[in-house]
Amino acid sequence: MEGSSRLDRKYGTNECSELIQAVLRQVWEEFYAWEQPASRTAINSLLRNPAKHTEGTTTPPPLDLDNEVLSAFSEWSLDSHPETLQFIDYPEADSITTHIPTYTIELPVFQSHDAYEGSAPLSRNIHVGDDPDNMPFLPFADDPSFDFIDHQTAYKYLSWQDLPDPDLQVIVMETIHRLHTTYNLSLEQIESTGTLPISLFPTINSPGLLHMSKLRDWPAWPQLTLNSNLPLSAFGPPKAEDLYDRVTKSLRNFCPNLNCIDPYCYVHIEMNPMPPPKLPPFDNADEPTQKAPCGPHCFQLLREKENEAESWTAEESNELRTILQLCGDVPPCDLAILCLKPCYQVSTEKLRIMQEIERPVETDLASRYFSNAPPKKELKPDRNRLPPPPKEPCRHSGPCDQFYLTSTGHSLEHCHCAFNNTRCQRNCQCPTTCKNRWKGCDCHNGRRTAVCGSDSCVCRRAGRECDPEICLSCNARDQTHPCQNAHIQRGLSKRTLAKKSGMGYGMGLFLDEPAKIGDYISEYIGELIYEPTVDSRDDVARHRGRTYLFGLNEGVSVDSSLAGNEMRYINHSKKANCRAQMKLVNGEQRIGIYACRNIAKGVELSLDYGPKFFDR
Ligand SMILES: [Zn+2]
Ligand SMILES: [Zn+2]
Ligand SMILES: [Zn+2]
Ligand SMILES: [Zn+2]
Ligand SMILES: [Zn+2]
Ligand SMILES: [Zn+2]
Ligand SMILES: [Zn+2]
Repeated sequence: MEGSSRLDRKYGTNECSELIQAVLRQVWEEFYAWEQPASRTAINSLLRNPAKHTEGTTTPPPLDLDNEVLSAFSEWSLDSHPETLQFIDYPEADSITTHIPTYTIELPVFQSHDAYEGSAPLSRNIHVGDDPDNMPFLPFADDPSFDFIDHQTAYKYLSWQDLPDPDLQVIVMETIHRLHTTYNLSLEQIESTGTLPISLFPTINSPGLLHMSKLRDWPAWPQLTLNSNLPLSAFGPPKAEDLYDRVTKSLRNFCPNLNCIDPYCYVHIEMNPMPPPKLPPFDNADEPTQKAPCGPHCFQLLREKENEAESWTAEESNELRTILQLCGDVPPCDLAILCLKPCYQVSTEKLRIMQEIERPVETDLASRYFSNAPPKKELKPDRNRLPPPPKEPCRHSGPCDQFYLTSTGHSLEHCHCAFNNTRCQRNCQCPTTCKNRWKGCDCHNGRRTAVCGSDSCVCRRAGRECDPEICLSCNARDQTHPCQNAHIQRGLSKRTLAKKSGMGYGMGLFLDEPAKIGDYISEYIGELIYEPTVDSRDDVARHRGRTYLFGLNEGVSVDSSLAGNEMRYINHSKKANCRAQMKLVNGEQRIGIYACRNIAKGVELSLDYGPKFFDR
């Protein structure tokens, strides 16, 4: 009687929430009352029978006093009372304890190596952007002087908070079963209160408990009702992606930078993701005509049939829509082959679909978050200093002017490149004839001397390395050709050695071959990170007293603390023998280190970190 009156009741949201909490608490207590003794029984069942025990003693081998390692130390002592080392061995049924006498040798105190951070070796910058929102571990966990409370505000949560709790899944499953059978609450009702600690339905971060419940084993808790009348079968795995999503997602794995066009390129993919396919102009109703009709059903011959009502299934239309979204300028003759339909029908259907396809609205550049600048090495003010290149290549209709109205006269579009006062890059989608593109230099190698080595080269003057695709006369494309303005892209570094610094800074970097004034030494390589990550990593860098940060432009820094090359060991000096210069190398900003005087082999290299580095 009582059960049926409960089933008839309707619960308000608050009441519902309290009910869920009460049931959850009860299930929780029941589960843990069962779980502890059950676990103990399970563990005890694994115990082996008490075994026989044998003792033994081994005589140690005579100590080799002429040992090569020991003789390297002038003073060492050997104590006369050896201790014993105990080995306990567990063969099949018995255990054997063996005692081995050991000697203690006292060695003189070692000089510790100068402190430095290990890093993964890189030959190219890699784009990291921002570190994840979860903190993977507590830095300096055993050091009370590190301000952990302040540091953790840079993260949203701790990595280990995110792991699914298998016990909690059991408790919640039983809770929803009881709520459903005893109190007649639907799964949607339960979920809508947001009271349960696990989400039942799929969310962005999780497939939901109902789906996960089908993927795991359950403990033998007698109270757990799995074959209940919960409508679990309705909750399958998350829906598979359609063709359009699959194609555009895999597109993102390819580097759009025309220098690489690599899959999984760590330098560019995150920074300049492959843009979604470009839709053809909207009001262009005229089909590109082929030279000859593709057959008797070609749209070029059967134009009068355009308005004829055709019977296309929704599935067939959707397939054509996807193809058009991916490559909208394919002529009907080719589409007909893909769709297995007569060409004139495809033409009609294409026109209909093109009216419907939504065009993405181009948005303004998002402004980035900036904060108090932590110390990082600075590029010296330089007349060749370039404004930062836009984060994305431009892709818009019309010429690369700063502002103009769209053809419909409604929204204001702009060209990122013109807006940021930078030249269009190779991977911009404007035509190669765009007036905003860099034209390259026309230096010649007339007297068989090095070309592009002085400021008479426009590329060099503009802080750009010669572009092999554009600078044709200096032959930058030919790796063996003496264009003197392509060192970074060719990787023509000087040999260097990292060892104990003579400047009192720990480790330092030394030249291993002579360099002349103006010579390229190497590239400063590391992870490209944004300001919020610069800040969160700075807490740690400041605490250890060593930073490997180099400001590239206002939004991006090169950090070689975790990964980089030997340039990270260059120390600061007011009278530095090297200088850093940012170069635009085939559309990408990279930091070159150049000799600013003649440097002999074996000399320690130095760089002026700039005033801001020591500000704080
Ligand atoms: Zn790339
Ligand atoms: Zn543009
Ligand atoms: Zn552009
Ligand atoms: Zn352009
Ligand atoms: Zn040149
Ligand atoms: Zn050039
Ligand atoms: Zn050149």
